Amino acid sequence: MTDNPTHTATAASTDLLLQLRDLSKTFPVKGGVLGRAVGGVRAVDRVSLEIRRDEVFGLVGESGCGKTTLGRMILRLIEPTGGRIFFDGTDITGLDRGRMRAFRKRMQIIFQDPFGSLNPRKTVDFIVGEPLRIDGQEGAKVREKVREMIQLVGLSADSPGRYPHEFSGGQRQRIGIARALILHPEFLVADEPVSALDVSIQAQILNLLMDLRERLSLTMLFISHDLRVVRSICDRVAVMYLGRVVEEGRVEDLYQRPVHPYTEELIRAIPEPDPELAIRGGGLAGEVPSPINPPPGCAFHPRCPLAREICQQQTPELTPRQGEGHRAACHIR
Ligand code: SF4
Repeated sequence: MTDNPTHTATAASTDLLLQLRDLSKTFPVKGGVLGRAVGGVRAVDRVSLEIRRDEVFGLVGESGCGKTTLGRMILRLIEPTGGRIFFDGTDITGLDRGRMRAFRKRMQIIFQDPFGSLNPRKTVDFIVGEPLRIDGQEGAKVREKVREMIQLVGLSADSPGRYPHEFSGGQRQRIGIARALILHPEFLVADEPVSALDVSIQAQILNLLMDLRERLSLTMLFISHDLRVVRSICDRVAVMYLGRVVEEGRVEDLYQRPVHPYTEELIRAIPEPDPELAIRGGGLAGEVPSPINPPPGCAFHPRCPLAREICQQQTPELTPRQGEGHRAACHIR
């Protein structure tokens, strides 16, 4: 689907930075002696979303629901098998490498694992400055920009000459953030940026991200399985289940009036800091079904306490609910 791009400005409003239309990704499943494709894993299934300038948009769901694949498709680190990605009004879905280069500078990613995402044999100076060198910049100018960025993310002035193993987990994530921001992108995919860190460090990194968001006017897709974190920093949120968005809306609407039974359970499962107030339910029954052979109809029906016959037969579409932009996909509610 990426061989016939239409690079036309389509954003209905300049307020929108990113639009996804029916974005899908199916990974082939290979089998037999010849390793031929014998099926497919539908990791992302016709997702349509809009992210406005300067907002932090949360994407939540259990692991394996497709949120990381979606984040990487937006940056074209994974190629979609269907649908379209519009960035600042331009269809970037089928852009070739050369034409994508200008957009790459404007869109960056922070990875989950601050240990694995930094080359242990390179100094911080090299790691943070690499995007600049790929962009054709060199010499003292690069060193100066690295120094500025190191300072901006709160690392000490002697950091550029040191190696990743000399830093703590939180400091390494700061290095990853510096690398992601050195080209001054407008849009950042933060893929579980604090989940590999100690709880005590998580708040520091989240505060840093929110501070940078203000100072640099960043728009952010914040991917997380932690609904508490998403609530504290996001403006709007979408909930994914088995590759599909099942509910989206403003954080206050979705957390106060969840419609989809899956969203409701995720919110109910948020750990309550005060044990006296911990009324919480028993959590979700069963495992997430295999995306190779997802249940028919509403994919949540094997785990849903409200499931009826129609749920096994028809896939519910997202429909408007109470609250601006609040939509949910459920036959019964
Ligand atoms: Fe549950 Fe049916 Fe709604 Fe799916 S459509 S969430 S199975 S009630």
